[in-house]
Amino acid sequence: MFAMDIHSPVHALDFQLFREKQIRVYMKRDDMIHPFISGNKWRKLKYTLQAARAQNRTHLVTFGGAWSNHLLATACAGARFGFKTTAFVRGEAVSNFQLSLCRLFGMELRFVDRSAYRDKYALFDQYYGENEQAYCIDEGGYSVEGARGCAELFDELDQQYDHICCACGTGTTLAGLYLGKTARGIPGQLHGIPVLAGGGFIRKSVEDLLQQPLGDDIVLHTDYHFGGYAKTSPQLNAFIHQFCRRTGILIEPVYTGKLCYGVFDLARQGYFQPGTSILLIHTGGLTGMAGLHDRLEHRHTE
Ligand SMILES: *Cc1c(COP(=O)(O)O)cnc(C)c1O
Repeated sequence: MFAMDIHSPVHALDFQLFREKQIRVYMKRDDMIHPFISGNKWRKLKYTLQAARAQNRTHLVTFGGAWSNHLLATACAGARFGFKTTAFVRGEAVSNFQLSLCRLFGMELRFVDRSAYRDKYALFDQYYGENEQAYCIDEGGYSVEGARGCAELFDELDQQYDHICCACGTGTTLAGLYLGKTARGIPGQLHGIPVLAGGGFIRKSVEDLLQQPLGDDIVLHTDYHFGGYAKTSPQLNAFIHQFCRRTGILIEPVYTGKLCYGVFDLARQGYFQPGTSILLIHTGGLTGMAGLHDRLEHRHTE
């Protein structure tokens, strides 16, 4: 029903470290799917939009922070596929590049203070409980429909990998990878790098979506959050700078930067057996980088 051409090639990453460890590392460029419905966000929205349409809902209502990639993706997808969109935005009214783009795509923004934001479903009920047009999408697109969409990533792969790794915010993408891999009987291990502190909760979030306990084929590496969501460090920034200049692939410090840092660090520790192949998912979201511009700029000149 909602079609988008998916262009997300797999690129080999050539680093001395990987040659020394005799591992092959690749990146799936979901960041190239769309500039604004970027990375995993189209995958997460596809069946969500279908569910909304199937229920004759014409108005997407969702939640996020002021730099949320999910809000921008929902705004743009709504504009493209004919839905009205509203976002409850956490915190006091601000304006920034990301929210300006949301507004350009016609999204209505309702700023709510942090305590009201905590009970998101109550907010939805208060404003839209009686509204038959409105369709509620959870923060970050967290949903079974979202996971189903992410599962389809496997249909685009033409080889198998021993390890597939992604950054985790809500865990929907990781859950989807698990669904896709299991349904297709594909071997290999999945690795999630939570970008929030205390990322152990991701296991429960994934189990709740899948309605089953997870086995050993999903591993969470919870030590690469750098202090919490959107937190960074000079070390992470320096790593990102090196990565970008060596590969020509842009990564940002909130998600894919932490993913890559984690995988490089694990490789350095000899975590991956020689001869194995590793696929990293670039989950996109590069517009959010405007918010980190000042922190990344001019730090690492050689
Ligand atoms: C939203 C987002 C994620 C988080 O994905 P989840 O499915 O919520 O775990 C990862 N990377 C980027 C770039 C994102 O924008």
